[in-house]
Amino acid sequence: MNCVICNTPFEPTNKKHQHCGNNCSVSLYAARKKVRQSIKAALKALKTPEEVNQFNLSLTTLLEGTSQ
Ligand SMILES: [Zn+2]
Repeated sequence: MNCVICNTPFEPTNKKHQHCGNNCSVSLYAARKKVRQSIKAALKALKTPEEVNQFNLSLTTLLEGTSQ
C-alpha cells in the first residue's frame, strides 16, 4: 500500500499501518490532533443533540475513509 502521508509505497507489517515510518506516523498523529481540535471548536457551535449526532456521523465517515 501507499503511505497516507507521503504516498510512498511500503509493506505494512500490521493491518493498522497506514504510513511508511515514524516520521509519517508523527505527521498523521499531528494531523489528526488538529482535526480533533477543529472538531471540538465546531461542536461548540452546534446547539441541539440532533445536530451533534449528525455531525459525529459525518465525521466518523470522514476519519474512517482515510484508512483505505
Ligand atoms: Zn510516509
